[in-house]
Amino acid sequence: MLSYQHGYHAGNFADVHKHASLCLLLRHLLLKPTPFCVLDSHGGAGRYDLTGAQAAKTGEWQFGIGHLWGKAPRSAGLSLYLEQVRALNPAGALRPLVYPGSPLLSLAMGRPCDRVVLMELHPAEHAALRRALKGHANAELHRRDGFEGVRALVPPAERRGLVLMDPAYEMKDDYARVPDCAARILARWRDAIIVAWFPILPEARHEALITAFEKLAVTGREILLDCLFTPRRKRGMAGSGLVVVNPPWHFADNLAEAGGEAAALLFGAAGRHEARMLATAKTVKA
Ligand code: SAM
Repeated sequence: MLSYQHGYHAGNFADVHKHASLCLLLRHLLLKPTPFCVLDSHGGAGRYDLTGAQAAKTGEWQFGIGHLWGKAPRSAGLSLYLEQVRALNPAGALRPLVYPGSPLLSLAMGRPCDRVVLMELHPAEHAALRRALKGHANAELHRRDGFEGVRALVPPAERRGLVLMDPAYEMKDDYARVPDCAARILARWRDAIIVAWFPILPEARHEALITAFEKLAVTGREILLDCLFTPRRKRGMAGSGLVVVNPPWHFADNLAEAGGEAAALLFGAAGRHEARMLATAKTVKA
């Protein structure tokens, strides 16, 4: 039984982290004229009404995109991201009204020749995503399990692109399914860029996910771990984590710059961003 709905969390600090990283990866893919494919295993609703009941109930967006709204970030990651969110909102709006999820970010930055393939299982979210995709001829939507879907659909005909895995983690086995799915994708598509998001919670279930990716890194793969931590709190999400397999050239530096700036803009002096390569244990702090 699926109960998670991303509308309660859209635009929060974890979305800033995840979506700014996605924008940086898309910018890299756009450097070549050849088409690419984005496979998004857990698409969500596509776009979110920040004036609606779900967003109002938690108010999480105010501590994410809300903090960045009036700012002019210096890093490429945050600038690209903010540009995309602003494009969906009325010019000069005093606050964001609408927030793009990962499917709309990929479609907005991609070209007509690029393809965005989306999986979403929740009936209401799937219906909302279908509505959000109206007019996008290069989007394909599946109502199927996201892990099974991406495994079956790789490698894409384009042979270039990325896989985003962003499950809800309401099922505890998501922590094991993410690295397992990444290994299976790489067995069929060795150059795939894979980006997986995970929450950092007090139960620390994400540690098993990191250990599994560390094992994958031993096979010579470059795997970047990137974490954005909130100031200390007793309950709830302590941080947002990303694992990026086969990160493009200079991506680690770009992400460190965006992560450091996000930590400062979102959390001030109490903000913290950490990144390290799982394969080489190189540590970068911002
Ligand atoms: N990636 C989206 C974004 O960044 O805008 C947000 C995705 S949200 C965190 C996770 C989504 O996965 C939810 O909409 C949920 O309904 C969906 N979901 C949960 N289990 C799934 C599964 N096994 N396969 C596909 N979708 C699933």
